[in-house]
Amino acid sequence: MVVDQNASIAGAEGGCQAECGTAAGMAAGALVELAGGTPAMVGNATALSIKNLLGLVCDPVAGLVEVPCVKRNGFAVVEAMLAADMTLAGIQSVIPVDEVIEAMNHIGRALPKSLRETSEGGVDWL
Ligand code: SF4
Repeated sequence: MVVDQNASIAGAEGGCQAECGTAAGMAAGALVELAGGTPAMVGNATALSIKNLLGLVCDPVAGLVEVPCVKRNGFAVVEAMLAADMTLAGIQSVIPVDEVIEAMNHIGRALPKSLRETSEGGVDWL
């Protein structure tokens, strides 16, 4: 909800960073919460996770959320788990989560239309 209010959760609007990035951020935060982390730690894990997927373009092939999406989401799971583990180990995100989300918003708006769910760019260029 926070990302939706301040950036986007739609690949057509903000690129895949908005979809897979937000999902990975939510998963990272949830894992920290389940492990007994504080709200600040949840935000930290979310920041670490989203930050690593900033700029990820939406470039679906063979229909929406098929290729490369399904496997891409698998990689995002691993990333979310790593962000949670890093947070629980005490690693801090230099950039706070709110600023990461703001950056995602700017990056999404800067992406050309061809990289926002149009199937006109990204892996489709090949
Ligand atoms: S690449 Fe796939 S998973 Fe990513 S935003 Fe586009 S349709 Fe969604």
